[in-house]
Amino acid sequence: MCFPGARLGQAQLRGDKLGINLKQAGISVIRYCNQCGSDVFFAIPVGDSLPRHICNTCGHIHYENPRLVVGCVAEFEGRILLCKRAIEPRLGFWTLPAGFMENGETTAQAASRETLEEAGARILIDAPFAMVSIAHINQVHLFYRGRLASPEYSAGEESLEVNLFLAEDIPWSDLSFRSVALCLEQYLVDRSSGQYSFHETALASPEIQSSNR
Ligand SMILES: [Zn+2]
Repeated sequence: MCFPGARLGQAQLRGDKLGINLKQAGISVIRYCNQCGSDVFFAIPVGDSLPRHICNTCGHIHYENPRLVVGCVAEFEGRILLCKRAIEPRLGFWTLPAGFMENGETTAQAASRETLEEAGARILIDAPFAMVSIAHINQVHLFYRGRLASPEYSAGEESLEVNLFLAEDIPWSDLSFRSVALCLEQYLVDRSSGQYSFHETALASPEIQSSNR
């Protein structure tokens, strides 16, 4: 089979022959080309350093990159807006309004849109606040800080309930994700000091963290 862009000699190597367990490596298993529907194989394209899924017929290379999740810590008169998730994962747990960034929007627009969709709240964005790299799930979480223009909010389709919480009432044991808990902790520390900064953190997988203890 002749195909453009793949290194000669590695053409027919699949993930298992490259010694890679795709799922363990956090790589999606792609079976068919998203351009022409043909079978794909897994190999290192010419000039590249990592194996990719490459189409047997049209040669299309299926690049996969981390996804950006964008959200906001929004407050009104000292209380912070949280949503109780109506969807998996972590259904029934509280989260900051956040979601996958869409094509064609800025990160600030994504934060505003997600807050409107999930919490029915219109916000004024102040500044980027926290960025959390979560390499083992191929995601980056970016949180802005901002304010509600008015105390109007309502549960969107992805939320069971939305509420404004005083710091002492934040349901720490019922938060959805580690990035959300981390962001809220950093936010409350900054707020009490009166000085907000930008926080960059990398979260390791829970298994790696526990084995390092
Ligand atoms: Zn193809």
